[in-house]
Amino acid sequence: MKVLKFGGTSVGSAQRMQEVTKLITDGEKKIVVLSAMSGTTNALVEISDYLYKKNPEGANEVINRLEAAYRRHVDELYTTDEYKQKGVEIIKSHFDYIRSFTKDIFTLFEEKVVLAQGELISTAMVNNYLCECGIQSTLLPALEYMRTDKNAEPDPVYIKEKLENQLALYPDTEIFITQGFICRNAYGEIDNLQRGGSDYTASLIGAAICAEEIQIWTDIDGMHDNDPRIVDKTSPVRHLHFEEAAELAYFGAKILHPTCIQPAKYNNIPVRLLNTMDPSAPGTIISNETEKGKIKAVAAKDNITAIKIKSSHMLLAHGFLRKVFEIFESYQTSIDMICTSEVGVSVSIDNTKHLNEILNDLKKYGTVTVDKEMCIVCVVGDLEWDNIRFEAKAIDAMQDIPVRMISYGGSNYNISLLIKECDKKAALQSLSNMLFNNK
Ligand code: ASP
Ligand code: MG
Repeated sequence: MKVLKFGGTSVGSAQRMQEVTKLITDGEKKIVVLSAMSGTTNALVEISDYLYKKNPEGANEVINRLEAAYRRHVDELYTTDEYKQKGVEIIKSHFDYIRSFTKDIFTLFEEKVVLAQGELISTAMVNNYLCECGIQSTLLPALEYMRTDKNAEPDPVYIKEKLENQLALYPDTEIFITQGFICRNAYGEIDNLQRGGSDYTASLIGAAICAEEIQIWTDIDGMHDNDPRIVDKTSPVRHLHFEEAAELAYFGAKILHPTCIQPAKYNNIPVRLLNTMDPSAPGTIISNETEKGKIKAVAAKDNITAIKIKSSHMLLAHGFLRKVFEIFESYQTSIDMICTSEVGVSVSIDNTKHLNEILNDLKKYGTVTVDKEMCIVCVVGDLEWDNIRFEAKAIDAMQDIPVRMISYGGSNYNISLLIKECDKKAALQSLSNMLFNNK
């Protein structure tokens, strides 16, 4: 069985819902995970913000606006009066429920319930549409099987057992429709898997049922070997290792929510990224297979700050790095890149909220230098250390570009280079020429 996840924009209008229906009715048995219609979760967050601030009028205004938009979607989606009527009933019941929260005390608990309505509505609408089209489908309630434990981590044993029980109730069903994002917590309360969590749902379901494949459908053009907005001549990436996808996720490559990688990776289930705007394109497959000796992609992240701490005390000392790292930890600032020498260490961070405090504390241990407006450029692919020449090629591409840090060997899939933001375009183009276009 396959698991197919459609994101908010893929179900963002009546027309898009109709297109999703075409994509899922190919006669294969599947579980379809849907996000809320795009913009809905944000609107529900806004409603909750008003209610936290004890402003029910503000909340009602957003609720009314959102409900009116849904009425229009219902009108467009269904053809017959009977199904339009059913659609109106679905919308009305959820919005009446949301409204009931404007009258009472509002806490984190109520917020989770309000946020859950987006996915509950989108799945009910699509299921009702399938029914109107005469396509048999079953609505699988995520709140019955998706669960987190006391550490707010998904509970795979519970999920597997409950999901199998649910599926066993409908042996003849071909298409199951279920909600992404929403779950219950260890206390049975309604909760969620954090924003963007529908990919995570798909991955957890895939792992629970040992799916043959997890498909993540979005409306963005597939993965490229370099940023097409910056570099000319990019090519699609057809295959990535899970580790390569994990490296790229940090760079905001809009491929896959980072949490989604683990369950699929550990259960060895390939994830395929597909584009609803171009459904016949092969997409990108992410799996545990490495393409030997192949460099896959180059990505970049701006707004990086580099900090160098140089100290003669570091020479032959132990515990120096720990003291440095503890300072970053105490300000909840994560370090991305690290380079060391016998007398100094350079690190890069992207969150500069506590930069001044960090610098002050670091000055106890040595001379501190800061470089702002830097950029991490990362080369991802099969960079196993005994694959010779790739690191030389990457560094060769930087021959006219000043490089502040180089990090290689942290994983088998990555080389990171820290350069100035203003050199980014030249660096990406040069890497592209050197690694992909054989110039
Ligand atoms: N609807 C949720 C959100 O917007 C979950 C998702 O779309 O993945 O964050
Ligand atoms: Mg989304």
